[in-house]
Amino acid sequence: MKIAFIGLGNMGAPMALNLLKNGHTLNVFDLNQAAVQTLVDAGASASASPKAAATGVECVVTMLPAAAHVKRVLTADDGVLAGIARGATIVDSSTIDPASAQAFAKLAAERGNPFVDAPVSGGTGGAAAGTLTFMVGANAGVYEQVKPMLAAMGKNIVHCGDTGMGQVAKICNNLLLGITMAGVAEAMSLGVALGIDPKVLAGIVNTSTGRCWSSDTYNPYPGIVETAPASRGYTGGFGTDLMLKDLGLAADAAKSAKQPVYLGALAQQLYQTMSKHGDGGLDFSSVIKLYHDVGAKR
Ligand code: NAD
Repeated sequence: MKIAFIGLGNMGAPMALNLLKNGHTLNVFDLNQAAVQTLVDAGASASASPKAAATGVECVVTMLPAAAHVKRVLTADDGVLAGIARGATIVDSSTIDPASAQAFAKLAAERGNPFVDAPVSGGTGGAAAGTLTFMVGANAGVYEQVKPMLAAMGKNIVHCGDTGMGQVAKICNNLLLGITMAGVAEAMSLGVALGIDPKVLAGIVNTSTGRCWSSDTYNPYPGIVETAPASRGYTGGFGTDLMLKDLGLAADAAKSAKQPVYLGALAQQLYQTMSKHGDGGLDFSSVIKLYHDVGAKR
């Protein structure tokens, strides 16, 4: 399949590499030329703009930081909608608010292009391994069309409902993730302050009722999980500012639904404090720094 891939960051680059590995032909675009070069070295063609990338392809995939970037890439004079052929599909895997996804779908439909929201979970490790979970919002026919392409980048491809429902699933998951990470950071810090060996405490939690992904796969305490950002100075992984963005999306969506998110609001303030202290670029598990000094690298 001929695909345009726009947004080659921590997630987008390994996802695009997996499309190439699976035999797809890729046009790529990113503002960061080093990221583009990595994909060109692997066999992709560099494009001068999103418009140029989208010209002549069957599908455009975007993996960008936030809704404002997606809007710019889609609607600018040199944007995707200016170049894409009628009938070609746009798949946005960025995490954005459901209302924006629905607005982009409307805009794309006016030009004869199906738009799919397909945010992911699984982190940079899942992106590299091709084991991401895709949460797909689209009508059933379009979902079936994009499923084989998504399967080149992910293991679980889940149809969540019509447009926007992929983003609903994603922001609810990340609301929970932001809360559980803060909870694990709090419990680990309390245990250590009271004198228990952190490895013993993590071992107990991970075989007890407190176990969760934040404790067993991505523990925020250094040295518990070798592959977790906590064990490399909180570098790489999922940035605090991106978690803050997702909690903001959840808070906004909750407001529109008149639904309380008590713990989410508190978690948002914790990550906001991290960001204010200059730690927005560290992995979000560095929230443990609010509890004690764990020697994070800046
Ligand atoms: P990132 O910041 O590493 O990458 C974003 C890329 O988009 C960068 O290469 C940047 O240069 C590019 N970009 C920005 N504006 C652009 C424009 N106008 N035109 C072209 N390229 C542009 O972000 P990431 O970690 O890859 O995350 C991307 C999305 O995936 C975000 O919405 C994030 O919330 C979501 N996400 C991230 C993770 C993770 O673990 N990092 C996990 C799941 C979902």
